[in-house]
Amino acid sequence: MMMNDIRRKRSLAIESTPVTPDVKQSYAAHDVVPYSGIYRAVHVIGHHLVQYITCIEESIFPPCPHCGNLVVFELVQAAIYVEDDSVFHPPTMPHSPDVF
Ligand SMILES: [Zn+2]
Repeated sequence: MMMNDIRRKRSLAIESTPVTPDVKQSYAAHDVVPYSGIYRAVHVIGHHLVQYITCIEESIFPPCPHCGNLVVFELVQAAIYVEDDSVFHPPTMPHSPDVF
């Protein structure tokens, strides 16, 4: 396989990744993370630059040690957590006595 073919396939794979769903614009500390993915953390009092962090679905957005609840989280790109991905972790099939 030629290098260009590999690059083209890689490009197609990236294009087929899930797009960020149309969701609420921002979340506060202690809210439940709605989707796994990359979030922008904005510290309202400006003690820190904007950060890009990864959060896992159903976990809790943390408060900041410096500004407490004055931090806002905005979804940048949703992504499937690798442990929840069926390609990397296919569901196990139950044993059937009729199948050999
Ligand atoms: Zn902060």
